[in-house]
Amino acid sequence: MSSDLVIVYHRQPYDEVEVDGKVEYRANKSPNGIVPTLKSFFGKVENAAWVAWKEAEDSSDPGFDRVIRIEDSFGKYTVYRLPLTPDQVKSFYHVTSKEAFWPILHGFKEKYNYDPVDWPTFKEVNWAFAEAAAAEAAPGASVWVHDYNLWLVPGYLRQMRPDVRISFYHHTPFPAADMFNVLPWRGEIIESLLACDVVGFHIPRYASNFVSCVRSLRDVGNVPRIKVDPDLMSEGSALSDRTVPTSIYTEEREVQLGVTPVGVDVDYIRELANTEKTDKLAEKFRSEIGDTRVLLSVGRTDYTKGGADQLIAFERLLERRPDLRGVVRLLHVSVPANRNMTVYEPIQKELEEIAGRINGRFGSFTFQPVALISRAVPFEELVAWYQVADVAWITPLADGMNLVCKEYVAARKDGDGVLVLSEFAGAAVELGAAVLTNPFSTRAMDFAIDLALDMPEEERRARMKLLQASVEKRDTRHWAEDQLALLSPEDFGDTSTP
Ligand code: UDP
Repeated sequence: MSSDLVIVYHRQPYDEVEVDGKVEYRANKSPNGIVPTLKSFFGKVENAAWVAWKEAEDSSDPGFDRVIRIEDSFGKYTVYRLPLTPDQVKSFYHVTSKEAFWPILHGFKEKYNYDPVDWPTFKEVNWAFAEAAAAEAAPGASVWVHDYNLWLVPGYLRQMRPDVRISFYHHTPFPAADMFNVLPWRGEIIESLLACDVVGFHIPRYASNFVSCVRSLRDVGNVPRIKVDPDLMSEGSALSDRTVPTSIYTEEREVQLGVTPVGVDVDYIRELANTEKTDKLAEKFRSEIGDTRVLLSVGRTDYTKGGADQLIAFERLLERRPDLRGVVRLLHVSVPANRNMTVYEPIQKELEEIAGRINGRFGSFTFQPVALISRAVPFEELVAWYQVADVAWITPLADGMNLVCKEYVAARKDGDGVLVLSEFAGAAVELGAAVLTNPFSTRAMDFAIDLALDMPEEERRARMKLLQASVEKRDTRHWAEDQLALLSPEDFGDTSTP
């Protein structure tokens, strides 16, 4: 019971490696993404802890180190590792979270799979997370719970520790009631979230959707709304809410709604973009590409990312515009999910089939229009590609935020390049200067890619300037500051950081 801030996130905040038979903990290799952003809080709050799970064959094994102390470049912190058996991990994470919650969060009712869900296991795992957080939190501490796979933690934790301040952040979209209420456990989930002091989302629309879910299940009266900060919302996006709900009042408490879009580490990306190594890599890519123009698409192999629709749009592009054959190439990076997630296998197959077909139809012995990369590209390499690609073509069917598009913008030190972005990515709310498109419409997709490829340099640069200003304004540091304010910073003493 000693930490003023407890971060509860399912992933461990470091890599575990075995050196000469001994386990060593090293800072995560990947410098981007949410883990390092969350770890930056260890530099702001002195007594902080992290609760994560770690797979263990026998969860009662006394030899398992549940609590470890880490000291790395982010500071000193305690990590509480919750041992979960492989069966628990499969049930709680791979099945309930990914086969039932994930499709509903992203609006894919047809992918929702109720049958294999073992709800008691989900509850048991969430209870264990809540117990670990309750054991770590100092009196009056802030506990910050992340993402839908820990939806029940706030409710349990409130029972165990009425004194702590609980914040919950959604890294995904939050659907409206007609979608969310497909989940048979909707009442339990909403009640748990209403045990929080703060429930956080990326964009106003998700907060509004959450309110619609709460009101469909419970009478909470009127929810005050304020006008959206014009800096946050781009004019161009048809999917932005003009007002944002501020708080829900239940009999027990005020539940504040936080709207804080997560950003990227602009300084770090710029630093990386300016290294000699990245310059050389970008130069190498340029010489390999020669005169052709490159469209870049980066995402996980997931039905939400719309990879197949995009490849088909590329095929249409080459059909429609013979002038672009042999001139435009698509680098489509699609990172497969881990091996246990069989739900994603058909998508991989589909991508391979379409890419193969396009290359068969429009390729030659020396020229392949599509390069399908089915593995994770190291971030350093990605930053070099960002600089080389004429167009970043990011068209998910649903995406909580999408960081790739912001990284592309941050990496363009030359001030050129075009971003084509789906309106259904949370980032579209902020990035109205992108070419926004509707990936469900073939006409809109065709129009957007034509516009991007034919855009005069002056317009490209003008748009990129606006995009860069947005991405800079709401980078990871701003997100962290907003979060600290919501987490009640006065309890953490002096949190000013250099
Ligand atoms: N990423 C990477 N290598 C790859 C593909 C993606 O390092 O081959 C990184 C990318 O730079 C970004 C993150 O993975 O930081 C993906 O985040 P995003 O929000 O775009 O999508 P998510 O996977 O979280 O849905």
